[in-house]
Amino acid sequence: PAQYDTPPVYSALKDGAVDAVVEPDFLRGEALAMLVRAAEGQLDYLQRRAQKQAPLQLNDVELGMSIATSKAMVFSKAGPNYPAPVAAVDVLAKAAKMSRDEALEVEFKTFSELTQTPQCRALVGMFINDQYIGSVAKKYGKKATKTIEHVTALGAGIMGGGIAYQNAMKGFPVLMKDINTDSLALGMSEANKLLAKRVDRGQMSTLDAGNVLSSIIPSLSYEGVENTDIVIEAVVENPKVKGLVLADVEGKISDDAVLVSNTSTISIDHLATNLKRPEQFCGMHFFNPVHAMPLVEVIRGEKTSEETLAAVVAHAQALGKKPIVVNDCPGFLVNRVLFPAVFGFDMMIVDGADFQQVDRVMEGWGWPMGPAYLIDVVGIDTAVHCFPSILDGYPERMGEIYDVSPTKLLFEGGRLGQKNGKGFYVYEKDKRGKPKKSVDAVVYDLFAEHANTKSSNEFTDDAIVARFMVPMCIELAHCLEEGVVGSPAEADMAVVYGLGFPAFRGGLFRWMDEVGLDVFCSMADNYRQLGKLYEPTERMREMAANGETYYD
Ligand code: NAD
Repeated sequence: PAQYDTPPVYSALKDGAVDAVVEPDFLRGEALAMLVRAAEGQLDYLQRRAQKQAPLQLNDVELGMSIATSKAMVFSKAGPNYPAPVAAVDVLAKAAKMSRDEALEVEFKTFSELTQTPQCRALVGMFINDQYIGSVAKKYGKKATKTIEHVTALGAGIMGGGIAYQNAMKGFPVLMKDINTDSLALGMSEANKLLAKRVDRGQMSTLDAGNVLSSIIPSLSYEGVENTDIVIEAVVENPKVKGLVLADVEGKISDDAVLVSNTSTISIDHLATNLKRPEQFCGMHFFNPVHAMPLVEVIRGEKTSEETLAAVVAHAQALGKKPIVVNDCPGFLVNRVLFPAVFGFDMMIVDGADFQQVDRVMEGWGWPMGPAYLIDVVGIDTAVHCFPSILDGYPERMGEIYDVSPTKLLFEGGRLGQKNGKGFYVYEKDKRGKPKKSVDAVVYDLFAEHANTKSSNEFTDDAIVARFMVPMCIELAHCLEEGVVGSPAEADMAVVYGLGFPAFRGGLFRWMDEVGLDVFCSMADNYRQLGKLYEPTERMREMAANGETYYD
């Protein structure tokens, strides 16, 4: 028998689900030998076949117990929004006492029913969209004339450290440059922690982990940067600092090296004004935590060349990420659509909604975190610092939102979210050192003080979903109509991979198709009084009137 790394094959053998385990090289010989044994009567294949076609040999008590246990286990993993895994257990339960052919009928019926669910349409759509964004990235990559072998990460903070780790993990030697020794030490220790976890889980040998770590060279100087093929800038989010740093490093790298910025909000065209070779510059927006989040937004500036985009897209793919090319605009794609929802959430709180209820409803709807919790995790300061660039970027829609922002009130009160233990929630470490959230009465008092007394204070689940989701969807439609993103498929994958939008809903355009654009527009019209953030585009209304959808 082969020494397989993967134990499941042995469990399958032990449970009788497979007849034998053979090294691939010996498969043909062993299979022929098995046929000979069957022909000569040494292997009673008919008895094995009868066994496989027979009902399960469990009595009612055993069957009841194993089905109940499996169902609970499967449900706890799949959750309430994915019907297929639990339906599979139901099929087993129903078919347990049947012959193989009767059981196949039951399976066929359930399978057909599942293909007609919105979840199935969304997940099959996700698969097709994923293939599509892969093919778009491949097309870009083919045009790449520059090969990337050596990387510089500028800045060793949360993002720079994560970017250095991800590059090193994928075999790229990295120069990690910062102006602060403590940051360099922190960047290295974070990388070390991630590697140690992989070693602990048996995903990597200690030797390999050591090699990855030693391929990151922490440095206070630019020595060696002349050999770099790509510089990924991730210094503090300040246009002046970034402008100086980018111009400085451009003068030190080779003429054909590519320069990218991981800025979350600053215009790529604005940053390019500091550069002599703006055609070799674009945005490369990673998400936090870098090693875990699949999306990389590649942002095309007005002067960015196709070769530069090609090299950056190919590099993002080499890092195991899902690159999506978007055009420069305030907030790019992902933050541009996230913030209108955050503003919608802020307005709900001012109107008297309970942020815990909003979180509960949106998590039940499928988001991994509700908005209050998400803002706490991202950092209230980080979120609030993004407000001006989005608000100023889209004054026609966002000029009208309420003057009072509960998120900003918390920031002004020194509550930064999880990072300082207090935000919408308060955080204490549990026994395993993980932050555990609870509620602080002070926050409710603060919000009550600034509440809009004219509002009715009644929030149904549907109202919460609509007030949070509508601004996000409308902003994404603007992005598509303005050509910021190339297709509904790329836009949907960006929100799934960059924001953690629930996969079983397939993306925002898929969701609007599922509810129907006419229904969506009337949902938005119910909140007309909240301003232009809730006003569908003319094209959306036209599509609604014609019964059109974003997907075929
Ligand atoms: P951070 O504060 O953790 O790190 C910034 C680092 O830059 C610090 O270590 C600082 O010492 C260093 N630095 C400052 N000036 C420098 C210089 N002249 N040369 C070299 N290093 C310098 O910040 P962060 O969260 O890692 O953010 C970095 C960038 O990534 C920002 O542009 C931010 O908008 C963007 N971003 C952040 C997130 C996030 O969730 N944190 C997500 C996406 C993008």
